[in-house]
Amino acid sequence: MDGKWHHIWHQSDLKTFEMCPERARKIWAGEVSDPESDAAVLGTACHNAVERLLLPADPDSYNHCYPVERCEESYDLLHDYFEQELTELSPSIEKWNSYGSVDKMRSMGTSKLDAWYEEIYNGLTPMHVELPFKKLLFEDDERVVHMEGRIDLIDSNLGIVDWKFPKRDYTRDKWQYDRWDVQSTVYSWAVDQMKGELKRDFEEHAMTFFVVHGKSGVSQMRIDRSPQDWEFLKRKVEALSRLVERSDMEVWTLNDAGWWCSEKWAPCWHLCKGKETYG
Ligand code: SF4
Repeated sequence: MDGKWHHIWHQSDLKTFEMCPERARKIWAGEVSDPESDAAVLGTACHNAVERLLLPADPDSYNHCYPVERCEESYDLLHDYFEQELTELSPSIEKWNSYGSVDKMRSMGTSKLDAWYEEIYNGLTPMHVELPFKKLLFEDDERVVHMEGRIDLIDSNLGIVDWKFPKRDYTRDKWQYDRWDVQSTVYSWAVDQMKGELKRDFEEHAMTFFVVHGKSGVSQMRIDRSPQDWEFLKRKVEALSRLVERSDMEVWTLNDAGWWCSEKWAPCWHLCKGKETYG
């Protein structure tokens, strides 16, 4: 080895850390695990069904410069994939916070996918589906730092695209995403790093989120990013990497100022804020 620290970060790690550093430390150290929730499993099942519909059987033959179109076959396939994914994933649910039963999840997921199919699918021009990346963010005398991830879709018209299947419509909080959303920063940076490797280069550093919320609502938000955001990302990830290297720190900063710090959502609750006796 070269005697340096080697870090590989995902955008979701940065989000986990932003909530509460100590919660992140406990999860990464294996002291607690984040239990799988019904809402997360439903989101994954919808996401996987969409991905399977868009993925070509032969990627080399799939150089779409024409839009996909709705037809009976693709509609049936989408719902078959969803049923398969739900059947496979639902046994892993450890926390029923949102839906209460697989039947309710099935009903909600079917409506969400109908909305996705009606309002989003038609007219997409997919170029890369589930595009993986692992790129060097920076290197110095002490550390080598990579960012890794997987982009839902690169579309020839829309550019970088991500699907979300949450309960509520958070595009109403777009100003927050404009200011500090890390996923659009990481993915736009990654696409810039992949210039020349993609079927088309994108000059515009933006990311489109399709948010399929409630039973049938679909919202869309486009977040713009610039090289200045990428410079901040490097500083942010450098600071986090340096913290991780200080492995002698037994506890990191506690941040209870948000929804995540509650009996319902914090896997660390019983070891920290929900602990009845200290001593
Ligand atoms: S209980 Fe709250 S403050 Fe304590 S580690 Fe968990 S999220 Fe952070």
